[in-house]
Amino acid sequence: MQTIDPTTGKKIAFYEDISSASIESGLKQTQAAFEHWRTLTFEQRGERMKAAAAVLRKHKKRYAVLMAMEMGKPVAQGEAEIEKCAVTCEFYADEAKNFLAPQSVKTQASKSFVTFQPLGIILAVMPWNFPFWQALRCAAPTLMAGNAMILKHASNVCGCALAIEEVFKEADFPDGILKTFLLPSAGVKALIEHPLIKAVTLTGSKPAGQAIAAQAGAVIKKTVLELGGSDAYIILEDADLDQAVSMCVASRLVNGGQSCVSAKRFIVVGKRLKEFEERFVDKMRAAIMDTPLKQETTLGPMARHDLRDSLHEQVRKSIQQGARLLLGGQIPDGDGAFYPPTVLTDVKKGMPAYEEEFFGPVASIISATSEKEAIAIANDTIFGLGAAVFTQDVKRGEEIATLELEAGCCFVNDMVKSDPRLPFGGVKQSGYGRELSNFGIQEFVNIKTVAIQ
Ligand code: NAP
Repeated sequence: MQTIDPTTGKKIAFYEDISSASIESGLKQTQAAFEHWRTLTFEQRGERMKAAAAVLRKHKKRYAVLMAMEMGKPVAQGEAEIEKCAVTCEFYADEAKNFLAPQSVKTQASKSFVTFQPLGIILAVMPWNFPFWQALRCAAPTLMAGNAMILKHASNVCGCALAIEEVFKEADFPDGILKTFLLPSAGVKALIEHPLIKAVTLTGSKPAGQAIAAQAGAVIKKTVLELGGSDAYIILEDADLDQAVSMCVASRLVNGGQSCVSAKRFIVVGKRLKEFEERFVDKMRAAIMDTPLKQETTLGPMARHDLRDSLHEQVRKSIQQGARLLLGGQIPDGDGAFYPPTVLTDVKKGMPAYEEEFFGPVASIISATSEKEAIAIANDTIFGLGAAVFTQDVKRGEEIATLELEAGCCFVNDMVKSDPRLPFGGVKQSGYGRELSNFGIQEFVNIKTVAIQ
């Protein structure tokens, strides 16, 4: 595998795929680590997890540079990502014992209760967009529950994948409790089928979800799937436009627009459309697109040239089908995988900008004549990850978020974001299962009934 700096297009490093023999010995080592780890108390595991948080903070700057080099994330955003990982490790170090406390249930037995036992080795197949966060947000709860983990990271972030393994070594976890296997996606099926792998979590695209769910289904292993999204932000006529525009632009541009819960479709109701378009375009234009190594950069290159090119193709096709370009839309000169902030309006059903996930800094504005139509458009997608509604009628906003939007995470007057205290995940083709909070830690445990007569 080859890592490439998307800012320059230059090769960074070459990595050998892991051999079958190393997979076999690695799994044995991880299983041995699990058998010891599961016997520790929550307090003992929590101590290690807090040490992992300290290691993350110690190397924050180095890890941010590594992400900038391998996938183009601006360093300021990379440092914030590492801090969020550290906070999440601490959160689970403190809360795992409460989340997994045995629950006594009254039955005809003299004693009956529910206990949460670890499963063994969990396979994590992870994407490149938040190389540390995606891996840590599943590793922290999974390990705190007493499991072990094999990490198969995206092929373009091998350096990050190895650094994550090092975090747990440096924090003095049992040897092999979290191991990185450098292997291409074609090697995942054999891993899923391996008897020592007990379950799989994937964060990635719909095609990867379809393949992994089918492979795990064939051997009856549980999966959690966190897939793509096409989050709609509804701007009602009474919205505070200052607030709405800044949240919409922040969400569309975070991580270069390469976030599953970036706002992707902006549905503006009634006569505020023109004003929204103008203010939205002004704010998008203000992004600072430059090398991700500069602290002031807000928009780096996209993670890979092929991803940039396919995004541009989606933009081109949408324009061909009648969308109107308000900003951007041209690939800049130079060797980097840069794509400028781009705004499309007059977006209609059938166009790629309406139907598909746009994984980059491209916004699709859709007009609606009523609140009812706006909600119908928001739900008119195969995805169901996040959604937001902007209105000064907070009670109505809460009703729309609670009852009407078909998505796993619905926010009012704010951008959708993950938080270790709240469950995160989708419905429809955005996947199933949840990460984070008490729901996340209960995904990979044996919810065991014990009854004593
Ligand atoms: P991707 O191509 O699906 O890759 C994700 C991971 O799956 C990588 O490790 C990849 O390995 C592996 N993979 C790909 N195809 C596979 C297959 N057929 N069998 C087994 N493994 C396979 O996705 P991406 O382009 O890296 O990430 C972007 C997608 O992830 C977007 O759709 C985004 O919305 C979604 N995402 C979702 C969330 C969420 O929480 N819901 C968060 C972030 C991203 P290789 O790199 O070796 O191909």
